[in-house]
Amino acid sequence: MAKTKRAVPIDPEQARLRVLKILPILKKTYPTAKIALNWDDPWNLLVAVILSAQCTDVRVNLVTKDLFKKYKTPADYLAVKQEELEQDIRSTGFYRNKAKNIRGAARKIIEDFGGRVPATMDELLTLPGAGRKTANCVLGNAYGIPGITCDTHVIRLSRRLGLSANSDPVKLEFDLMDIVPKEKYGGWTMFSHYLIWHGRNICKARKPDCPRCPIAAYCPSANRPDLW
Ligand code: SF4
Repeated sequence: MAKTKRAVPIDPEQARLRVLKILPILKKTYPTAKIALNWDDPWNLLVAVILSAQCTDVRVNLVTKDLFKKYKTPADYLAVKQEELEQDIRSTGFYRNKAKNIRGAARKIIEDFGGRVPATMDELLTLPGAGRKTANCVLGNAYGIPGITCDTHVIRLSRRLGLSANSDPVKLEFDLMDIVPKEKYGGWTMFSHYLIWHGRNICKARKPDCPRCPIAAYCPSANRPDLW
């Protein structure tokens, strides 16, 4: 959850115009922005995203380096006992639940989707452990279908930038879909990456670096600690 002290007042028309100003700047500032998780096919991406809950991307990448050598397909995750998978992913935390969700998703993908990770929001939401954040991440990154991934950085920055007053990721996602171009400047998927990279590099949770921020001219929270 975002820990802003209070929300910037929202004017949807102003927010839409602000997005059009900041998107090209972020695109230029972060030309190589992409998801920080390592993956090489939609199933591996789904596993990595499930593992990333309450865990750093660095830790997930360390774990998946070996995991993806041992388990290649959904069936591989069902060929071992749950306890063995739990030990293989233990250091990502919440490993029992994550192992259960990975195996549940593997089973559903084999039984209902012919062994292939589905490419629609509705189908992805039927997988154990997959909410809209996970589904958007898979759609946007593995299938090139526009989706806004509302993680903690996207929530915090959207509020500071006066794009939405919502902290709830699903409500925020719908607010953003209304004002962010679906395709232009990289569209919804890249918009998430840009905000995540900006949140990691400049607009940090505790101390945003407004003097170094390339979009400060358009940010209603610039140099306003009362709004951070
Ligand atoms: S001006 Fe400050 S608060 Fe606004 S986006 Fe930049 S770093 Fe964040």
